[in-house]
Amino acid sequence: MELYELNLRSAAEGVRTKKFSALELFDSCLARAAACEPNLSALITTTVEAGREMARRADERLAKGEEPGPLVGVPVVLKDNLCTKGVRTTAGSAILGDWKPPYDATVWELLRDAGAVLLGKSNMDEFAMGNTCGSSAFGPTRNPWDATRVPGGSSGGSAAAVSAGYAPFSLGSDTGGSIRQPASYCGVYGLKPTYGLVSRYGVISYGSSLDQVGPFARTVGDLHAIMGVLARHDPRDSSSVRGKRLDFSPIPEDLKGKRIGLVREFQGFTLEAPIADAMARVRGLLEDAGAEIVEVELPIVARYAVSCYYAIAMSEAHTNLERYDGVRYGRTVDDAEGIKEMFERVRSRGFGIEVKSRIIAGTCLTEPVRSEEYYVAATKVRTLIAQEFAKAFGAADFILQPVTPALPAPVGGVDEDAMKGYESDLYTLPVNMAGLPGLSFFTGYSPSELPVGLQLVGPRWSDGRLLNVGLTLEAMLGSPRIAKGGL
Ligand code: GLN
Repeated sequence: MELYELNLRSAAEGVRTKKFSALELFDSCLARAAACEPNLSALITTTVEAGREMARRADERLAKGEEPGPLVGVPVVLKDNLCTKGVRTTAGSAILGDWKPPYDATVWELLRDAGAVLLGKSNMDEFAMGNTCGSSAFGPTRNPWDATRVPGGSSGGSAAAVSAGYAPFSLGSDTGGSIRQPASYCGVYGLKPTYGLVSRYGVISYGSSLDQVGPFARTVGDLHAIMGVLARHDPRDSSSVRGKRLDFSPIPEDLKGKRIGLVREFQGFTLEAPIADAMARVRGLLEDAGAEIVEVELPIVARYAVSCYYAIAMSEAHTNLERYDGVRYGRTVDDAEGIKEMFERVRSRGFGIEVKSRIIAGTCLTEPVRSEEYYVAATKVRTLIAQEFAKAFGAADFILQPVTPALPAPVGGVDEDAMKGYESDLYTLPVNMAGLPGLSFFTGYSPSELPVGLQLVGPRWSDGRLLNVGLTLEAMLGSPRIAKGGL
């Protein structure tokens, strides 16, 4: 077994007990990334020297007998919308150019203090808008199980990197599914935590009332370890919750008597056969383990969540992206006469087509004459959606549902039909609208050897228990393998 194949906890344990050094582990992961990158393009920046230096320092600290953190010496890949001081951070956009943030995102600070070592910054849909990785200014990432297909998005690079063995874990962000959907497409586990549990300080904003950072890993227990580090109050983020201490000890949940909800309205919607099969199989396994399957109703979600999500996300995006003007950040132009022309040129050259169309839509949706009818109405529906989920969680402990209706599409194929892409987010984005935690878990491989994931959704702050159910599911379904990585 090569070192890059180790999961997070085994890797940290190996470094701590000096079975191998942090530098050896880092170099093994780096070699794996170098081998797969020509096929996958999962990384925008590879932090070779900075990462090797961090690994060396971890080894030195261990040699001196200093207390190592729980993630000691473990390589990590961060989505490129997470600020890393002095390391290029692009959000997948040309408008940021080679911008090097002057400060670190809190999540990276926490991981680094726990001993993690930065291997690179991952490719993503531009400003996290998309679900294929196809809108990145750096070209598409490819699926490590089948390089002709998309890895999902927007955190596609983070999912692909973990799936192919570049690092035992990575971070992504999820505004409407961007952790759970690529996790499922790439055959890894991904958690979108409860809104407010993980700091958003230093995260390049897309839709601030929806954005949440979360981890990818190849075992559920690794997600516990990462969340144990990330879940804390951050005074620098006003949406970060105070005084919540969730327990992330990995204890498999006994499913006897647990009520698992299936959404009535979703049952009439078409799923590709491997996903429908996985739903039936997991339902059967849950019943065998003593869980009770109950039906829950989410009629407003089924009917209005997609349109309301996009109204809110685009409105917030239009406001958040106002700051990219060529003065405060990134690239500018030197052929403009006057400030107005400069702004126009910077923005029309720097943003890609998907981002531009969302900024325009968001501008219209929030115009004073229309905002009552669109943006404000959407936020009211959002409250109804949260209430609908709260009611469903009176009847069920957790809800089982697909992540996506279909397996990953061919690269380039889906990006042409934006509406189709938006609609395929039906199963993920309501979870963000209600601020809930959602776990994307691996169930097995399709006949064509593509991974198939499903989703378990819990009430707010049930993140620890959700992962514990994930442990039980992993024991029943088996853990994913490392992907071929296009080799
Ligand atoms: N596909 C959704 C969107 O484009 C979700 C993206 C995300 O979660 N960042 O808005």
